[in-house]
Amino acid sequence: MEAFSADIASYLRYLERHVPSFTLLRAGEPPLAAEADETNISRSTVPSGFSGDMNGLEQQARNCQACSLSETRNNVVFGEGTGKSGLMFVGEGPGAEEDRTGRPFVGRAGELLTKMIQAMGLSREDVYIANTVKCRPPGNRVPSPEERNACFSYLEAQIRLMKPRYMILLGQTAAQVVLKQTDGITRIRGKCFEVEQFPGIRIMPTYHPAYLLRNPPAKKDVWSDLQTVMGWMGLSRGQHPEAR
Ligand code: SF4
Repeated sequence: MEAFSADIASYLRYLERHVPSFTLLRAGEPPLAAEADETNISRSTVPSGFSGDMNGLEQQARNCQACSLSETRNNVVFGEGTGKSGLMFVGEGPGAEEDRTGRPFVGRAGELLTKMIQAMGLSREDVYIANTVKCRPPGNRVPSPEERNACFSYLEAQIRLMKPRYMILLGQTAAQVVLKQTDGITRIRGKCFEVEQFPGIRIMPTYHPAYLLRNPPAKKDVWSDLQTVMGWMGLSRGQHPEAR
C-alpha cells in the first residue's frame, strides 16, 4: 500500500511538472484563482531537471520565445550576482531601464534595492537577483499567469543551480509564483515560509521596492523583514537604509 501511495505521489509530481494545466494542490493550499481555469499555457523550453550550468540556462533564456513577451523585449533580463552570501532576491519582472540594459533592478526601484542590500551589510555582488519573468511586460504591467507559467521553469532552474539558503520575495507576484498561493503581500510579508518544491530554503515575502517608492511609510516594515532575514543569516543588525 505504501509503495502504491508513493507511485501515485510520484505520478502527481510528474503531471504537475509536465502538464501545464495541472496544478497539484497540497493540504492547506488554496488554488491560484487567476490560474484555476487557464488553458493552453505554454512553458519555456527549459527541460525538466535541466542539467546544464547557469551560463547554459542564460543562453537558453536569451533565445526563448515561449511567451509573447519575447516579441516586445529589447533584452532578456536573466539575473545577476554570485549569490555567495546564500541570499537570493526574486522580483516581478524587468522595467524599462532593465529592458534597456539587460540587468535586473537598475532603475529607481533598483537603486532602493541596492540600498536595502547594503543596509544588510552586503553588496549586490554577494546576492543573486532574478525576476519571475525575464522579459519586460509592455507598459510595466503585471505579468499574466500565462507569462509567469511560461517563465517559471527558468526561475526554478535558477533556484536549483544557485542553491540559496534564504530567499526574499519582492512583492505580490513573486510571492504568488514561488509560494503558489494567493494571499495578499500585506498579509504574508514578514513571515517565514518553506515550500516543498525548494526544500531547505527559508523564504521571506516583503514589499517590492517600487511599492516603497509610492508608499515610503512601508519602508519600516521592509526594514523589519530584512532584519529578520539578517537574523537568520547571522548578520549583525545593520543601518536603516534611510539613514545611509
Ligand atoms: S518571459 Fe520568460 S518564457 Fe517569456 S519569452 Fe521571456 S524568457 Fe521566455
